[in-house]
Amino acid sequence: MKYGKAIPLSKEQLRAQSERAMKEAMERKLTITQLDSRKEVVCGKCGAKNRVNIGVGEQRAEFKCKECGEQQRSL
Ligand SMILES: [Zn+2]
Repeated sequence: MKYGKAIPLSKEQLRAQSERAMKEAMERKLTITQLDSRKEVVCGKCGAKNRVNIGVGEQRAEFKCKECGEQQRSL
């Protein structure tokens, strides 16, 4: 039988594949979290540029202007 020896091999291949997929997924996750989510936001009061940390999946972040101290929310 030709397929007799192919079965354990394919099992190993499957395991290797799923391991690789998991590794890739983890690496992708790491890349996402490592991605700098800092955004340059212009203060609505004085126009100064502020670097604001915005969490993954979030589009808005509260920040305090470094120039005038105005607490606001980035758009
Ligand atoms: Zn300001």
